[in-house]
Amino acid sequence: MTQEREIFSLSKSRFIQGLQCHKALYLHTHNPELADPVPPSREAAFQVGFEVGELAQGLFPGGVFIPYDPDNYDGQVARTKAEMEKGTEVLYEAAFSHDDVFVKTDILRLGRYGWELYEVKSSGSVKDYHVPDLAVQYYVLRGAGVAVSRVCLVHINNQYVRNGDLEPDKLFTIEDLTDTVVEMGDFVKAELAKMRETLKGEIPSTDIGPYCTDPFDCDFQGHCWRDIPEDSVFTLRDRGVDKFALYRNGIVRLKDVPLDTLNSRQRQQAEFFLGKKEFTDAEVLKSFLDRILYPLYFLDFETYMVTIPLYDGTSPYQQVPYQYSLHYLEHEGTVLGHYEFLAEPNVDPKKDVAANLCREIPDNACVLAFNAPFEIRVLRELAGTFPRYKAKLERIIDNTIDLAVPFRSRQVYHWEMNGSYSQKVVLPLLVPELSYANMEVADGMMAMDAYFTMCESKDPQEIAEIRSNLLKYCALDTLGMVRILERLQEIAKNGGSIKGKE
Ligand code: SF4
Repeated sequence: MTQEREIFSLSKSRFIQGLQCHKALYLHTHNPELADPVPPSREAAFQVGFEVGELAQGLFPGGVFIPYDPDNYDGQVARTKAEMEKGTEVLYEAAFSHDDVFVKTDILRLGRYGWELYEVKSSGSVKDYHVPDLAVQYYVLRGAGVAVSRVCLVHINNQYVRNGDLEPDKLFTIEDLTDTVVEMGDFVKAELAKMRETLKGEIPSTDIGPYCTDPFDCDFQGHCWRDIPEDSVFTLRDRGVDKFALYRNGIVRLKDVPLDTLNSRQRQQAEFFLGKKEFTDAEVLKSFLDRILYPLYFLDFETYMVTIPLYDGTSPYQQVPYQYSLHYLEHEGTVLGHYEFLAEPNVDPKKDVAANLCREIPDNACVLAFNAPFEIRVLRELAGTFPRYKAKLERIIDNTIDLAVPFRSRQVYHWEMNGSYSQKVVLPLLVPELSYANMEVADGMMAMDAYFTMCESKDPQEIAEIRSNLLKYCALDTLGMVRILERLQEIAKNGGSIKGKE
């Protein structure tokens, strides 16, 4: 390809990028060095997409695979053409080119009325942005002379429950989008023309907008958002004022926002941040603390969520607990006890988690969790999976209290929380001596990645190190809850600042 043809050639992914933002398409083509470093989550998502794509091929087995070759697009197109001419009826990753647009189709099958195109996605439903993805493929295939009779999206059926070997016909749902896609031919043609005009011209003057993260995180946020200050209107939490409307009106910093345009929570956030204020509703806090009884158990789960269920009895995207930490106090003022659990690599952890928790938490225990709806959801799923533990797990659920409530409802609020009530923000504020800084595993995503690294590792030393890091991290979550509760009790009794002494 000549340099010029390379620049004005497009692909399915560049078309989707251009629909999100022409500037992103332009920068990708002319200034790729301005892109943010590729986040590890991108590689993980790519791997999931690859595995899901391979599994979906099981819906139409026996096809011929056309390998991707970034240095030889024409060769892939020629190989596809040759396979179709020789009578191959199912193709995986077939390649086509038309109007200088190159596309690969996940699955192409010769049906009774023509070629059927199947695009495979690892989401649990059809999303708006899937439609132009299919439309550009249809445009190219039709233009290349392929008689396409059906255009479908294949997505994950999130109601599927694994039972033995994976069954592609149950794991996937096929949605026929032919009519919608066919109607978009003119739209695709017009958008392609606009994108080529953009690529030929100067860098677009597009300013930041909601499209920087919707439908995908743009690769150029570091570049385009570089002048947005830390105390900007974009730090405002919750739904409420249109932050981009403020920005477009020249209101960038919190100090410049007219407070009467904000709802009560956003206004409180801004006022407290600007005035460096804090607030405690001692009476409401005391009523909350009065509900907490002994024996008292502090529970935190670590879970993984995968698209393709690994074990029987689990569904796509289910939160599967592989670890928990459980600190406990039998009576007020007694020595703190601790239980913990971390699954062995490559073993279904659910039953051991359910059995151990039922053994360790007494019937009359009060259970504290930070953001308890998450822990309750996991307990409920365990109760649904194991009838033997159902009654006990339901008792635990009934006895669970959410330690995040005083922070979420802002009975206890400090300007440094800046609208957040996450434990990662609350803990270092109230208990500065406990912190996630310098920990090898410092958040839930890192914990999940570490757990899967441990599952893949064959090195006993590496496995031991990861185990130790995971146990330290999860234990800090529940020890943090113990200390947060102590600080809340102290504040309710003696008053004083929410912020703990360094
Ligand atoms: S960060 Fe926003 S404005 Fe910049 S290229 Fe991406 S989508 Fe466009």
